[in-house]
Amino acid sequence: MCDSEKEDPWNYSSAKNGYLNSKSEVPESSRKAVVEITRTGTKTVVVHDRKYEKEKFLLAVILALAIFCGILLTMVFNKKNQSCIEKKKRMCLTEECVRTASSLLSAMDRSVDPCVDFFQYACGTWNKKHLIPEDKSSISTFEVMADQLQVVLKGVLEEPMNLQDNEATRKAKTFYNSCMDLRNIRKIGDKPIRDVLSQLGGWPVITKNWKSPTFSIEVLIGLIRSHYNEGFLIEQWVGPDDKNSSLNIIQMDQTALALPSRDYYLKPSSKGDLIAYHKYMTNIAILLGANASSASEELLKVVEFEKQIANASIPEQDRHDTSLIYKKISLRELGKIVPRINWLEYFRSIFDIAINEDEYVVAYGLPYFIELDKLLASTDKRVIHNYILWRLIMSLSSHLIDDYQRERVEFRKILQGVLSERNRWSQCVEWTNKKMGMAVGALYIRDHFNHESKETALEMIHTIREAFNELLAENHWMDDETRAVAKEKANAMNERIGYPKMITDKEELCKEYESLSISNHEFMNNILNIMKFEAKQNLDKLRLTVDKTKWSTEPAVVNAFYNPNKNDIVFPAGILQPLFYSQHFPKSLNYGGIGVVIGHEITHGFDDKGRQFDKDGNMMQWWNNITIRAFRDRTQCIIDQYSRYKIDEVGLYVNGRMTQGENIADNGGLKQSFRAFRKWVSQYGEEPDLPGLNITQDQLFFLNYAQIWCGSMRPEDALTKVRSSVHSPGPIRVLGPLSNSKDFAEAYHCPVGSPMNPTSKCSVW
Ligand SMILES: [Zn+2]
Repeated sequence: MCDSEKEDPWNYSSAKNGYLNSKSEVPESSRKAVVEITRTGTKTVVVHDRKYEKEKFLLAVILALAIFCGILLTMVFNKKNQSCIEKKKRMCLTEECVRTASSLLSAMDRSVDPCVDFFQYACGTWNKKHLIPEDKSSISTFEVMADQLQVVLKGVLEEPMNLQDNEATRKAKTFYNSCMDLRNIRKIGDKPIRDVLSQLGGWPVITKNWKSPTFSIEVLIGLIRSHYNEGFLIEQWVGPDDKNSSLNIIQMDQTALALPSRDYYLKPSSKGDLIAYHKYMTNIAILLGANASSASEELLKVVEFEKQIANASIPEQDRHDTSLIYKKISLRELGKIVPRINWLEYFRSIFDIAINEDEYVVAYGLPYFIELDKLLASTDKRVIHNYILWRLIMSLSSHLIDDYQRERVEFRKILQGVLSERNRWSQCVEWTNKKMGMAVGALYIRDHFNHESKETALEMIHTIREAFNELLAENHWMDDETRAVAKEKANAMNERIGYPKMITDKEELCKEYESLSISNHEFMNNILNIMKFEAKQNLDKLRLTVDKTKWSTEPAVVNAFYNPNKNDIVFPAGILQPLFYSQHFPKSLNYGGIGVVIGHEITHGFDDKGRQFDKDGNMMQWWNNITIRAFRDRTQCIIDQYSRYKIDEVGLYVNGRMTQGENIADNGGLKQSFRAFRKWVSQYGEEPDLPGLNITQDQLFFLNYAQIWCGSMRPEDALTKVRSSVHSPGPIRVLGPLSNSKDFAEAYHCPVGSPMNPTSKCSVW
């Protein structure tokens, strides 16, 4: 759910000048007081002045008036003092409150009218103060949180082995140490990669007199799938069948390309990226021993081939309707539709267990496979081998240092705009956490997780679910029957908070990594072992029923998830921390933070994709047709609204279709969480204010929501996000949902028609 942005890149349809101009220089609080006193005085003088004309009388009256005004002023003054005392009483002055207030305040730009550009109001100063680090393509509060978590993980991974460690946590620490062991990595060099290549028939571009190996392309990509867990040409995995979520089934989809999206291959504006990609490929080939001039020429054909694959792939925005791209089919039938790919050979090289033509698989987007079939038949085998092995080299060599690292940085400079490589420790922490997430999670939660937050999160989930159900009951566009099933689905949603219990059970945790061997000084071999281990873990699920209680997310990440096949919402330990959550925060901040995230994930169960799954995670039609039409009208409003947001750095508009699911979730989550927050206040009363801010609790809710998205990004990153992310960029995640929110407009007194309170609003949930 993570994305971010730049200072003022956004185009509004109508930024009304009157708004900014009418803003007084005087601080709001004193301005209010001045106005009230002046009005009282004037009124009194005017009334008396008209009734009496004679001077004596006038003098007497003036005298009387002066006395009266004196009394009145004293009264007002006393009253003002009294209210100050009252206010002081209601101010939270604990260390945490002062610290929190200061952090909120230091990010804001209060010279901006919140009703004109709330992102700038909430984040203006933060964005000015935080430059994008050289090794990154963007910066945001979200990313800063992830960085802070990384520092904590570095600490736990670098701690010497001790009595609290078990076999699993020892393996994680050993893996991390092997990643930091530059001396041995340098000594071993690229030999492990060369060995892999020769086992797979050699990379044609670096092999003298290369001959096509005795095994087929199907076997080659099958072996790469089962040994290196990579899906080139075909993405393949084992997972729950969308139409029978308790059953694991073989699944396949179009391949992920080497560049972030198909546009990078097909749009003329990305020619520079493609040239950099070709140069990267060529230089790596030269490092592996290729002849410079012939490699460049030969690998140009590889880029051309990948361009054709990109062309055969279906754009992400057209893959939104899962039920339309889902196709369950036997290998026999698949062989009739895609005849030149030997499916039996492919799957038999992947699985240890017997596969025959009666095996059913789920294929997403059959048209891609039909095109791939034609493409493979019409392309020289040497080009195909060059391509497949290049992809494997690209994946493996990202772990190497020195020359390989230099080439990678040069490529990333063009593609992502970064200026330098990341710290080695930061990469090693990331790899260890990604590849051994549960073991790292066990180390993390030992000292760095507040277990009380689990209870609070659970309570908040209940209140937000209740809010969702209330809003469901109030909406006018749903028929009663569908509404009842929707409620059932919301109530059946499972919540997972913090971490799975198994990571606290030494035996269970060790069993998880039992078959993985990690050595002290052979980092590249460890990587290869992990790839094999990951592949096996996934493929071994075939013929087993789905374990719906199993976590698939590592606990130490700043993120949250909804899983449609399990109908569960997941909040890992890493997100249950400030800015999202703190036990010391006022409730307004927790609801504006983790509360909105909870609502966001719940709403995913009812977005354009999630709504196609029932409470048990099975894809089926449980909506009546009229209601589907009403839903589509409402989502169209969201699609159109977001498609109008322009990202100035790259002169492109947000892809409203590709981001619709996330946008629906953002809008729903915000509304539900605010409602749950108000309910909490009506039950327990308003909490004391934060010092120095002079804003209400309702305003704080929206301020914290917005500040989670403070940040900026390089144009290269903006382009990648617009082209390939299902999330809208950070500032749009602030502006979109808030300008649809009546609660927001009310909290900040935004006049109807102001940019943040447009007359036409979109609402789905
Ligand atoms: Zn989401």
